[in-house]
Amino acid sequence: MIRVRGLNKWFGEHHVLHDVDLDVARGEVVVVIGPSGSGKSTLCRCLNRLEAADSGEILVDGVPVPAEGRALARLRADVGMVFQNFNLFQHKTVLENVMLAPMKVRGVSRAEAERTAHELLARVGIAEQAGKQPARLSGGQQQRAAIARALAMRPKAMLFDEPTSALDPEMVGEVLDVMTGLAADGMTMVVVTHEMGFARRAADRVVFMDGGRIVETGEPNAFFDSPRTDRARDFLAKVL
Ligand code: ATP
Ligand code: MG
Repeated sequence: MIRVRGLNKWFGEHHVLHDVDLDVARGEVVVVIGPSGSGKSTLCRCLNRLEAADSGEILVDGVPVPAEGRALARLRADVGMVFQNFNLFQHKTVLENVMLAPMKVRGVSRAEAERTAHELLARVGIAEQAGKQPARLSGGQQQRAAIARALAMRPKAMLFDEPTSALDPEMVGEVLDVMTGLAADGMTMVVVTHEMGFARRAADRVVFMDGGRIVETGEPNAFFDSPRTDRARDFLAKVL
């Protein structure tokens, strides 16, 4: 589904991704962990070209990630992204937030977009918030609205970059529950998170990054219980 080969990315003189190779199979849930500045967000952002790679190859469903235009808009619809800070349109209602992109990018009719939006808001547990503006919702509700908005495009895969890091602790669980449900329904997911419990529960594979490289990758229980590299061991000692 997603195939990355020899991905390199520089910010000026700073080499932030070194020869990254990554495969995400259809229906697979890959959790990416690692210290701050290790390149987790940059990797995610390269996958749907919010950042341009400097070298290497990124294929989604066998097709190279396009650089621009309608093909890029379609790619971003196919590979949804959920950010730490929700990025909802503040002057629109929650319902409109979920309806807009399918009408604009997918050419869906208003009636169908509205029907789907109501369904998705119910699925993430915020049906009763549809008519409100995002600022009237709690952080957890806003993040669930952002997930519904991404799902409205009927994506083939979803990228999550620290979706619960900006939330008050009591709201983390409701967002992770929605994500766990998506994983159980077979969504292909790449999730950057510090929620190690979620990683253990929902991940098929954990990818550990450090210094712009994928240092270790493994099945979650094996990775958490007996990491093979010193760097992963040191990191886990700090976060677990
Ligand atoms: P965190 O856990 O703090 O979110 P991360 O693993 O997501 O960290 P990235 O945000 O990918 O790390 O950053 C990797 C490196 O690239 C860091 O050194 C960061 O300072 C640098 N960097 C990221 N974005 C930019 C940018 N737009 N311009 C310049 N440097 C950047
Ligand atoms: Mg980050």
